[in-house]
Amino acid sequence: MSTTQVVWFKRDLRLHDHAALCTAAAGGPVLALYVIEPELWSQPSASTRHWQVIQAALLDLAQAIAQHGGKLCVRIGAMEEVLVELQQALGHFDLLAHEEIGEDWSFQRDKAVAAWCAGAGISFTELPQFGVFRGQHDRDGWAARWRQFMTQPQQDLPPNIRWAHFPGVDAWQRWQPQPSRHALADFDLPNPAGVLEDFLHRRGEQYHLKMSSPLSAPEACSRLSVQLASGRLSMRTVVQSTWRAQQEAKTWPVEQRRTWPKALAAFQSRLHWHCHFMQKFESEPKLEHRNMARSCDGLREDDFDEAKFEAWCTGNTGYPFIDACMRFLHATGWINFRMRAMLVSFAAYDLWLHWQRPAHHLAQLFIDFEPGIHYPQVQMQSGTTGINTLRIYNPVKQSMDQDPDGGFIRRWVPECAGFDNLRIHAPWEASAMEQLAAGCQIGEHYPEPIVDHLTAVRFAKAQFAGVRRSQAGRADKKTVMQRHGSRKNRSR
Ligand SMILES: Cc1cc2nc3c(=O)[nH]c(=O)nc-3n(C[C@H](O)[C@H](O)[C@H](O)COP(=O)(O)OP(=O)(O)OC[C@H]3O[C@@H](n4cnc5c(N)ncnc54)[C@H](O)[C@@H]3O)c2cc1C
Repeated sequence: MSTTQVVWFKRDLRLHDHAALCTAAAGGPVLALYVIEPELWSQPSASTRHWQVIQAALLDLAQAIAQHGGKLCVRIGAMEEVLVELQQALGHFDLLAHEEIGEDWSFQRDKAVAAWCAGAGISFTELPQFGVFRGQHDRDGWAARWRQFMTQPQQDLPPNIRWAHFPGVDAWQRWQPQPSRHALADFDLPNPAGVLEDFLHRRGEQYHLKMSSPLSAPEACSRLSVQLASGRLSMRTVVQSTWRAQQEAKTWPVEQRRTWPKALAAFQSRLHWHCHFMQKFESEPKLEHRNMARSCDGLREDDFDEAKFEAWCTGNTGYPFIDACMRFLHATGWINFRMRAMLVSFAAYDLWLHWQRPAHHLAQLFIDFEPGIHYPQVQMQSGTTGINTLRIYNPVKQSMDQDPDGGFIRRWVPECAGFDNLRIHAPWEASAMEQLAAGCQIGEHYPEPIVDHLTAVRFAKAQFAGVRRSQAGRADKKTVMQRHGSRKNRSR
């Protein structure tokens, strides 16, 4: 009799192009398992909106498995307890999962699962789902490996798959994470294939031109991040579909091609970045807790100002564009890249906040939270990588560039809606008469700016200049570059 193959779903909630599932199907009857781990959901980066994503994705997965004659088993508890139950019921089984690139908590959990399996004589196989490679500690040869991974054929669910069954918890859909935070009032998880198709053949035409403004980005960007972070779509599917669209566009006449080639090239490079950033985290998971450049240790940690942090978190800094972005994020769970970078820059340089708590706050708000991208990006935008030039965003300039008519601000910071198209970007500069006419007295209806941008940034730059000039700062530059730097830049 063949051994039951337990496929442990985590952030890979799909049937198509699922390496663990295909390997399992060849080995015996497959038990599809998802375990709701309450401890995972109490981590400082977790939130109710993340659960809303997973819950919707699990419902779709359960339906897809049912269509193929199986039943998804959902359990609630610690993974090791579930494994013990499985062992009691099944005797021997094999365990398969994807290589999760998660936070320290899930990393330790995976190590404990591996140790338990080793002790119980059960094989535990983890297979990659991204172009990210376990055990790779520098970037030599990485780009070639990425390409090789992405060119492999996509795997379909084997038609002759046999399913195994194990009783799950029927009421799992009513489970709610504790603590409860940041639930989305209006949440819908669209069909991933539909989102990809719509982007590559309709919405994406001006991707590179419209990705920077929060007014145009929601439509012009792919919006695939939530699908990738929950694993509803494999990265290989997205990459290969993009390559195909690029090839097709080459055959079109110029008037049909328009901006498609540039848009698709820009998009394609983002897909590369996805794995480039995740590889940093895979190679150095401590980035969740400590500065990438250790020469930055102690730079801001002890200066944390709770009132400033609170104002930033709630969108009450007195900078309308910053506040509009934060409030938009609260309401929708998504914002475009540039605005994410600007929010972090404001926390890091203007408010001089060490990055870890801002990182957790944003992680809770992002429905697409992906630790492997998030922590390296937050560190890069906070200046603690030691290799990147400081990217300090001027919130008023960004406001004028990305929201010239103030429409985005008016929608999300209605207190300021009455100001004209100039004053709305810096309402503290409005005269008393103008404030009266706008129906918004600064300091009463809307806060005074929490800091003066130029003064704050001057201070921040001086602090960083000191660190980077130091011996430790110069040494960091070499080691960080060797470990995480893109080899493409170096050869250039
Ligand atoms: C401070 C900060 C935190 C971030 N945290 C996350 C996160 O938790 N999860 C997440 O998926 N992205 C994160 N990003 C990267 C980026 O902002 C999002 O991937 C993007 O905005 C998601 O929208 P989209 O799918 O429409 O992106 P598109 O612009 O359509 O890009 C397509 C895909 O490419 C990848 N990608 C795009 N930009 C980047 C980038 N700069 N770095 C790495 N990969 C990229 C993502 O997988 C994205 O889904 C972060 C960026 C910053 C500055």
